[in-house]
Amino acid sequence: MEVYVLRLGHRIGRDRRISTHVALTARAFGAKGIYFDCYDEKVFSSVRKVVENWGGDFFIEAVNWKKFLKEFDGLKVHLTMYGISLMKKIDEIKKASKVLVVVGAEKVPGEVYHMCDLNLSVGNQPHSEVAALAVFLEKVLEVVFDLKFEDAKIKVIPSERGKNVVRKGEKIFDPTF
Ligand code: SAM
Repeated sequence: MEVYVLRLGHRIGRDRRISTHVALTARAFGAKGIYFDCYDEKVFSSVRKVVENWGGDFFIEAVNWKKFLKEFDGLKVHLTMYGISLMKKIDEIKKASKVLVVVGAEKVPGEVYHMCDLNLSVGNQPHSEVAALAVFLEKVLEVVFDLKFEDAKIKVIPSERGKNVVRKGEKIFDPTF
């Protein structure tokens, strides 16, 4: 299954940090790419830098969100605290070959609720687009801890203590911190 993310309502300046986290979470948890409704040089270049160093072919792109959402040829899922439970629809989602998951920043335009096939919640408490997206991707793709980016320039060698990191086979961090 291919999963794409649409990030709505990014405010240049104010949302940079959280939008970057949305994009990095999308990549690390198995989405193919993320679409923003505006171009933010800082966010886009820092996400692309991560891809360059840490591998894979995750993309970040700006689109006309309304046209894009309307024309997307797959299952469109909007994550919102007001929706019905993600777990009620998980089987339906897993059958889809292409999924677009929409997450907001502040208030999402009302028409999004009608343009999407499903309005789903990860619990009905207000929390965060990063948390909602991470749970969604983990439940739908179930591959999060197996993801490998074979072409990565930088890799973490998991260790019980310390930071063991290699760049092109050479140690770059002292494992004793
Ligand atoms: N009142 C907003 C709403 O419509 O969900 C909360 C805005 S929240 C800061 C930003 C985004 O986080 C939302 O647009 C939604 O995508 C996601 N989100 C927050 N809580 C959620 C929840 N319980 N379930 C699913 N998504 C959630």
